[in-house]
Formats: sequence, C-alpha cells, structure tokens
Amino acid sequence: MDAPIIELAARVKEIKASPTLAVDAKAKALKAEGADVLNFSVGEPDFDTPPHVCEAGKAAIDEGFTRYTPVPGILPLREAVCHRLATDHGWRYQPDQIQVSCGGKHGLYNMAQALFGPGDEVLIPAPYWVSYPPIVQLAGATPVIVPLDEASDFDLDPAVLQQYATPRTRGIILNSPSNPTGSVLSARALEAIGKMALENSWVVISDDIYDTIVYGDDKLPHILEVDPRLSEQTLILNGVSKSFAMTGWRIGYTAGPKHIIAAMNKIQSQSTSNPSSVAQKAALAALNGPQDFPRQMRDAFVPRLNFIMEALTAIEGVTCVRPRGSFYVFPNLSAYFGRQSQDGRVIGDSVALADYLLEEALLATVPGAAFGADQFVRFSFATSMGVLEEGMKRLADALAGLR
Ligand SMILES: *Cc1c(COP(=O)(O)O)cnc(C)c1O
Repeated sequence: MDAPIIELAARVKEIKASPTLAVDAKAKALKAEGADVLNFSVGEPDFDTPPHVCEAGKAAIDEGFTRYTPVPGILPLREAVCHRLATDHGWRYQPDQIQVSCGGKHGLYNMAQALFGPGDEVLIPAPYWVSYPPIVQLAGATPVIVPLDEASDFDLDPAVLQQYATPRTRGIILNSPSNPTGSVLSARALEAIGKMALENSWVVISDDIYDTIVYGDDKLPHILEVDPRLSEQTLILNGVSKSFAMTGWRIGYTAGPKHIIAAMNKIQSQSTSNPSSVAQKAALAALNGPQDFPRQMRDAFVPRLNFIMEALTAIEGVTCVRPRGSFYVFPNLSAYFGRQSQDGRVIGDSVALADYLLEEALLATVPGAAFGADQFVRFSFATSMGVLEEGMKRLADALAGLR
C-alpha cells in the first residue's frame, strides 16, 4: 500500500489508543454478530443515571440553558463541589480553586498540559490506569513507572519509590482505590509520599474517582491528611462518572491551588471552552441532591464482589488481591502462561490469554499489559449476578482447557 500523503504528528505515533475502549469495541462487534459475549471489560457502573439527575438535565434544555458557560464551569456547580469536599472530607476549597472539565480524564489532561513538559518525569505506580502514561506523554513529559507488588496488596513501598525518583521528578499520580486493582494506599505509604513531595516540591495528583465505592467502614487514608502544607501542592481529581453512573455526561472536576487551576482554565479556554451546559446542570443535581445513590450502588456491588472473589480463588493457580474499593478484580493468571490451547496456540502473556478467553469462552476482559502489569487480567464486576455466575464457569472451563 502507498504511504498516505498526509503525515501524522510525532506525538500521536508515540501513544496508543485506550486499550480498554478497544476491547469493549471488539466485544461489542462480536455481540453484534450474534455471539453470546459476556462483557467483563467495561469500565463503568451497570446502573442508570438516577432519575432526578436526568430530570435536571432535561429541565436545563427546556429552560434554554444551552449556551456557553464560564470556562471553569458554572459557579453553582463549583460551589457544590466545594460543599461536597467540605462535607464529605472536611477539606476547604473556594470556587476559584475548582475546575469542572469534560470528564475526569479531561481534568487530568488539563493538569498535565498545565504542569508538565519536556524533561519532566512523572511517577506512576503500576498497575496504573491506562490513560496516565499517554496523558503525561502528550504533555511532552516522561512517565516513570514504579512497580507495585501483589504480595503487599499493591501498596506503595517507600524504598521502591525512592529508587525511581530523580532530580527531574515533578510529580506523582495516585489512584486509591485503584483501577484496575481495587487496592488502596496505606497511611504509611502516603506519609512517605507526602514527605518526599514536600522535600522535593512534587505535585501530587490524587485521582479519587472511586472514593464513593469503598468496601468496609474504615475511612480511607488520604494524602491531604498527611500534612496540611500538602494542600499547596496537591490536585484532587474526581467527578460524577462513577459515583452517579454518569460516564456519558462527561463531567469531572479538579480541586487545587488557585494558580494551577487558573493555568488549567487557560488550557481549557483554548480547547473545549467549557463542559456541556446541560451536563453541568445534571451534575449540580447529583452533587447537591441526596447522596444515597452512590451508597446503594456500593451495597449492590458487595454480593458480586464476594461471589467473584470466591469463584476466582477457587480456580487452581489463581491468586487475587481482595479489592478495598472500585468494581474491578485483578486476578493473577500467570500460572497459565506457557500452556497451550486445544488448537496448539501457546498462551505467552496477558494479551494472548485475554484473546483466548474472548475467542474460546466469549469472555471480554482487559489484559493486564494495558495497565503495566502483564501477569494479570482485569474483570469488572459491574454486571449482573447471572453474568458473573456464567462467566466464572466459562473462565474455569477455559483455563482447565489449557495444557
Ligand atoms: C473512570 C475513571 C476516571 C474518570 O473517567 P471520566 O469518564 O473521564 O470521568 C478517572 N480515573 C480513573 C482511574 C477511572 O477509572
């Protein structure tokens, strides 16, 4: 084939499209052909957006709230974010310290553009959320991957972190509870991170998107509780995508130091201008309304979590850290690497295994390689109990079929 006439920019060749969305597309295509695919790859709740939130969106349209809004988001929504941060966590923010963006992912993108550039290194513990490294790369900076250990429940070991820090380190991205592991960072790890951040003027990005989906009653330790001075160098990322089942509305928000939010607003003003006016009104209803929806959703996930944990760990050779939050499990399936399928294919890594599971058992999962951890495969349990039961049967059979 001839090379196309129009060349692409170098930066786009360096990054990959989101692998989680790619698996989802492949599974949906198989399903459209009539295959009975069970989808464990989806990164969103299987709940509908609550009715009062949808009504607020519809009312916004009917009232003609359909024009540009202020770049950082409408003031009532930024006030509602401040209210939630104060009520739920005791953190004090002013509306000029809040940016509303087109989803949490976009908030992260704005941060990276505002903070990082060529020569900068950003620490990213792995397993990581798929979008962290490319978002850092798109800013021209270098992601530095810090490996976490399954044996310590994917907590961060301060001594390991120390090995990856250099004078070029500008910041670190934390995600607790984590996608894909569901693990949380311990107070000890956060203390060490906070100390290093203070000593070396790092920015700490705390992706708290799963903070309403937590199992057990203990309050999660948080970087802002380590030392009050850290609020000057911490960015809190959150949004309504997961907590209110609003992934399609595209509303996320960032809380942080005023000058960083101002810089992010400059970036946003020259790219998306503002998040959707209608979606902002819906998010306002979510944040100011009753907060029982996230809790109900969490409660509904508990029996599914218990079931999938039991089913996975009953399979020979499989280990799985019990998630403390989120709706993912991240079993280690590497005991099956090196084995062969009936048709003679050797399963060499997580990508080959996920492909085998999709083709052989019609199970859509996401290979751990996408999260920088090749021994694992991610399963979302934001799906019905019936799908979980059938899916775990198929998984056990498919793995047993490897020789
Ligand atoms: C889903 C998710 C987000 C935010 O997603 P948006 O849909 O862009 O709001 C951020 N971080 C992690 C780890 C996620 O899983």
